[in-house]
Amino acid sequence: MSIKITEECINCGACEPECPNKAIYEGGKKWSISDGTSKPYKPIFYKPKRKDIYFIISEKCTECIGFYDQPQCMTVCPVHCCVLDKIETKEKLLKKKFLLHEPK
Ligand code: SF4
Ligand code: SF4
Repeated sequence: MSIKITEECINCGACEPECPNKAIYEGGKKWSISDGTSKPYKPIFYKPKRKDIYFIISEKCTECIGFYDQPQCMTVCPVHCCVLDKIETKEKLLKKKFLLHEPK
C-alpha cells in the first residue's frame, strides 16, 4: 500500500526527513522523481499536490519496503495523520523501489 496524509496534518515536518524515498513534501513545494533517487533521472519538477499541508507522492511511496519494517512516516507522526491509502502488492512496491534505487 502507499500512504497518504490527511487534513489533520499540523505541519510539524517530522515525517519528511524519515522517508527513504523522499516521497514526502512540505505544502507548496514542487516535487520530482529525481529527489532521493540513486538513478540518473532528470530533475523535472511538478506542481505541489497541496499548498497547506505536507503531501506524499504515491508514485514514490513504497511503504518503506526494503528499508524499514514499518512505514516511517506513520511511526513518527505525532497526530497519526499518515494513513494507508492505496492497496498495492509487495511486488508492485518492490518495483517502485527498484525504479528509485539501485538493487543492493
Ligand atoms: Fe516515505 Fe515510507 Fe512514508 Fe512511504 S511509508 S511516504 S516510503 S516514509
Ligand atoms: Fe504532518 Fe504528521 Fe508529517 Fe507532522 S509528521 S508534517 S503532522 S504528516
